[in-house]
Amino acid sequence: MSGPAFPAGCPPSFVDLTGAANLALDIRYASTANFTGRDLYGGTRGLLLHAIAAEKLLDAAARLAEARPDLRLLVFDGFRPNRVQRVLWATVEGTPQQRFVADPAIGSIHSYGLAVDLSLVDAHGRELDMGTTFDDFTPRSEPCREADMLARGLLNPGQIANRRVLRDAMEGAGFLPLPTEWWHFDALPAWQVRARFALIE
Ligand SMILES: [Zn+2]
Repeated sequence: MSGPAFPAGCPPSFVDLTGAANLALDIRYASTANFTGRDLYGGTRGLLLHAIAAEKLLDAAARLAEARPDLRLLVFDGFRPNRVQRVLWATVEGTPQQRFVADPAIGSIHSYGLAVDLSLVDAHGRELDMGTTFDDFTPRSEPCREADMLARGLLNPGQIANRRVLRDAMEGAGFLPLPTEWWHFDALPAWQVRARFALIE
């Protein structure tokens, strides 16, 4: 597995977590298995994060190993250059799915290396059932609607329990969940990220 290409001007505060113990990787934008149907990372499948997010992610992995040694974190994306965010935005702009994708003019927290998208896998490497797939841009993906979705039979208790295992590990390590995507977590509040750190093109 080759590591990700370090973008020009990338500050040394980034950490390459490719191959880290306790982390499984399935970097979706480095394959055609994403909602654009295109490999947007040129085949580099590694995981880069800002050191603050990297430290918290390793803490989350350790917390999960303690609570559920049968499970591992499965990372779909970490640092995502803003030039890739533009491609994602162009795919959804003007559609109902637009609200699930950050406008590159404002910048995704991923483009600061301070957000991570992830799920859980079992000891056989099988993804746990979270009720939707990664980047399923429908209301069933929204944690803020889980009680309603459960009441309407659109999510089952097992799926919500699986999401809670992921959230417990991530929030325990200091990540902040999003109300709209069960797979997305920010290492710091978005306003603080935009005030303190550089968006990487
Ligand atoms: Zn995300």
